[in-house]
Amino acid sequence: MTDRAVARIDVGAIERNCARLPQPLCAVVKADAYGHGLGPTVEAVLAGGATWLAVATAAEAAELRRLAVDVPVLVMGALTRDELRVATDADADVVAWSEEVAEAAPRVHVKLDTGMGRLGTRDRELALRLAARPNTVGLMTHFATADELDDDLFPAQLEAFQEFLGDVARDDVLVHAANSAAALREPAAHFDMVRCGVAIYGLDPFQDDPGTHGLEPALSLHSWLASVRRIEPGESVGYGRRWRAREPTWVGTVPVGYGDGWRRALTNDCDVLIGGRRHPLVGTVSMDNVTVDLGPDPEVDVGDEVVLIGSQGEERILAEEVARRMGTINYEVTTGLLPRIRREHFR
Ligand SMILES: *Cc1c(COP(=O)(O)O)cnc(C)c1O
Repeated sequence: MTDRAVARIDVGAIERNCARLPQPLCAVVKADAYGHGLGPTVEAVLAGGATWLAVATAAEAAELRRLAVDVPVLVMGALTRDELRVATDADADVVAWSEEVAEAAPRVHVKLDTGMGRLGTRDRELALRLAARPNTVGLMTHFATADELDDDLFPAQLEAFQEFLGDVARDDVLVHAANSAAALREPAAHFDMVRCGVAIYGLDPFQDDPGTHGLEPALSLHSWLASVRRIEPGESVGYGRRWRAREPTWVGTVPVGYGDGWRRALTNDCDVLIGGRRHPLVGTVSMDNVTVDLGPDPEVDVGDEVVLIGSQGEERILAEEVARRMGTINYEVTTGLLPRIRREHFR
């Protein structure tokens, strides 16, 4: 190990994931490409066939242009007046659901709120008026439950959007609605382009195994065994004594903690891989370190590699598993890795 903790990102996996998703593909690279690092991710998605990029903020669009990216960029988030200027200066398309924004931007994608209840307009008349404007180049909506196979809002949203499209009397606009989950489950939701984020990183929008959709996880998280000590029955490790040894054992310290995004919710509740085997995290996750139970006869040593997300030997820990243990979703696991974790890209 060269660093205390490093996220290794296989840009070849990102490229292959893109190539496997429905086309045309708009790759969603907001929030530093879901924690995967913007620049190398963008190169990979373009190599994988993406023809559009989408971000949430104006600053993210400006950053793409600083990287000399010259494909169309869509800013999907709400924008202040100042941000709108930054977005249009970056020659990005923006999403509009008001006359004010539609008039202020050169190219807009009109957003209909079909049930997400967040951004977009619910007013069909307004949406139709905006859709008829000459600077409207796209029509879109966003699904709230595409990742929940038994929820009835998804088909209802799709139907509401289709109905709206039926009332728009033009065919020179780009129609898009599908996030990763919708892109993977429902061809009728693909329209002219899919907007995939989580799937391009090889994360499963359904929180199961990305392999079932032919997706390869791109990110793995590595650290090292920095210290090993013997712990006697009754002795504790970590803040608050939240774990005590029942048997004589060895405990190892791994220099990664919630200051890196390895959240405190994982206290006494996750595994790491060392020497090709699972070992349970024991005790409180602190800001800079975690402790793991190596067992009574450890075959590992100070300096050994520790895998927190990824494979080692026959064992594998998916971001989806870590998410379950954190009580969250895989999106938040990778996006939540803090800048203190260096990103190392390889192919
Ligand atoms: C983030 C986002 C997406 C991508 O969603 P994934 O579930 O990551 O594929 C698509 N559309 C909008 C409007 C978004 O905000």
